[in-house]
Amino acid sequence: MHEMSVAQNLMATISAEAAKQKSKPIKAKISCGILNVINDELLAEAFSAISKGTSCESIRLEIEHKPMRGLCKKCGREFEVDFSKGRCTCCDSADFELLEDAPLILEEIEFETG
Ligand SMILES: [Zn+2]
Repeated sequence: MHEMSVAQNLMATISAEAAKQKSKPIKAKISCGILNVINDELLAEAFSAISKGTSCESIRLEIEHKPMRGLCKKCGREFEVDFSKGRCTCCDSADFELLEDAPLILEEIEFETG
């Protein structure tokens, strides 16, 4: 299961950071591209399974899926690709190239304060 290995990586990063901050992590924000298919529910499940009994147990995961971006060959602009339309949002040209999908990133960890 893809989500399980992602959860394990996240967990390793978060607990290392928690040890450094000497604080309890409460929330983690993740972002990924739409081709990097992550099922939010499966990831949350996998994460809660492996974090049980650790300092990461009560973390809430927030996952943001970033849209695919394209570069228009006609007007040269970058835009968010809507695959149902498949056209540049600026000049309506269908002549564009897809830019690289956003990687999976751990954007932010929130720690308990006080
Ligand atoms: Zn265009």
